[in-house]
Amino acid sequence: MSPRERNQRSRLAQLVHTAGLLRGTLAVRERACGKANCKCANGDKHVSLYLVASYEGRVRQLFIPKDWEPQVRRWVEQYQEARKLLEEVSLLHWDKVQKRQE
Ligand SMILES: [Zn+2]
Repeated sequence: MSPRERNQRSRLAQLVHTAGLLRGTLAVRERACGKANCKCANGDKHVSLYLVASYEGRVRQLFIPKDWEPQVRRWVEQYQEARKLLEEVSLLHWDKVQKRQE
């Protein structure tokens, strides 16, 4: 195993063992609540953060409360990092097959 592959696997294992992992994209949504006397009736809309992800072919949205935002952002970043590392390990094995190396 090359030092590069060892590092990738080590980081991937660390993420899988200990890190929060969350698949999805964070999206800011603006909405009007419908109350006639609310600030949003004059265009100052409510801003909320959602996590958007598809599961089994259906798009799901999850409201992210303000105090959960840092945690959720970290979990989403860690998922992305793990996915990238997994893809790199896969590419190494693609090459192994192509070059007939075990
Ligand atoms: Zn409102």
